Amino acid sequence: MRKIEFFRHNIDERDIRRAAAVLRSVFLTTGAEVAAFEDGMRRYLGSEHVVGLTSCTAALHLGLEAWGVGPGDEVITPAMSFCATSNAILHAGAVPAFVDSEEGTGNIDAELIEGRITRRTKAIMPVHLYGHLADMRRIRSIAGRRGLAVIEDAAHCLEGRRDGIRVGQLGDAAAFSFYATKSITSGEGGAISVHDAPKADLLRHLRLHGIDKGAADRYTKRYRHWDMPILGWKYNMDNIQAALLMGQMNDVGARCRRRRRIAEEYERGLEGVPGLTLMRTAPCTEHARHLFTIRVRPARRDKVLVALQEAGVGVAVNYRPIHLLRYYRTRFGFKPGAFPVAERIGSETISLPLYPKLSDREAETVVRTVRRVVSRHA
Ligand SMILES: *Cc1c(COP(=O)(O)O)cnc(C)c1O
Repeated sequence: MRKIEFFRHNIDERDIRRAAAVLRSVFLTTGAEVAAFEDGMRRYLGSEHVVGLTSCTAALHLGLEAWGVGPGDEVITPAMSFCATSNAILHAGAVPAFVDSEEGTGNIDAELIEGRITRRTKAIMPVHLYGHLADMRRIRSIAGRRGLAVIEDAAHCLEGRRDGIRVGQLGDAAAFSFYATKSITSGEGGAISVHDAPKADLLRHLRLHGIDKGAADRYTKRYRHWDMPILGWKYNMDNIQAALLMGQMNDVGARCRRRRRIAEEYERGLEGVPGLTLMRTAPCTEHARHLFTIRVRPARRDKVLVALQEAGVGVAVNYRPIHLLRYYRTRFGFKPGAFPVAERIGSETISLPLYPKLSDREAETVVRTVRRVVSRHA
């Protein structure tokens, strides 16, 4: 049987031609293509400003920097995420205050946020896990009352909505990823969306060392000396990345609809299978369906994982909780039991293939294989 890859990207000939045109031009770094991509993304999101960066990790970090989060500060964030989320908090010099998950969605349990707020708390960094928007209305209201910034980790959720609001709408900033396995990709890449014009300006400076003129200013206009009023980083998206992303951004809705169709097939085919649990979708949610995960008993998870792989179905684990990764255990002394729901999800979860190129036949094969493997092992 042919292997069903865990992920296949959607870069097509049109995207490759656009990138090739940049490569044949003289100007490779941040310029007109990046500005055009930022504008397209801004229109898709319905946001005010988008700044193109090298990764979502960079976007999360710069978001914190732009809102003045630094040493001595705490940022509230879920234990159930990819380590990039809380690493960005450490990059800013602050520390994560982890919060446990909701059982059904795996998202940060908004109920527990207020209990984690201290005098040092500066921001909340929710993650829209698997493409399911966190409870942003609730989070916005807590942040508003307590004077906290909200920086959304939207790496899974370019397309998500919930309770009548979109991703990035209620947060001060939202961070997006164009990493190799994300819904649109340039191999590596990211962006931050914000509503506030001065913050967007600051972010444009912070992404390029803090200097006051980018290469495009120096290239297209008469040479003028530049200065460096503040210290920034080297996080600027380049024209090659932007050219690859431009066409993908135009198709983002169609791709998401295809993933939703596959997810519906998975839910139909796997609902009620003994020994297998599915994640839930909250009411009034338009799920971006970045990842589709199943849960099996912890003692059986790794056996099921290997058996699926051996049967030719690509799988992954998203995620083992951050606080139990070795660096976090060592630095902060976390012990198992600190965030029981996140830990349970981390020990039970398996991600299945989910991408627009997955055919109906392949999706059927995934369902059949999962049913067979789980009934044997779980
Ligand atoms: C992929 C991912 C990131 C990091 O994205 P990069 O672009 O690789 O920096 C951050 N958070 C989550 C939840 C992710 O899945």
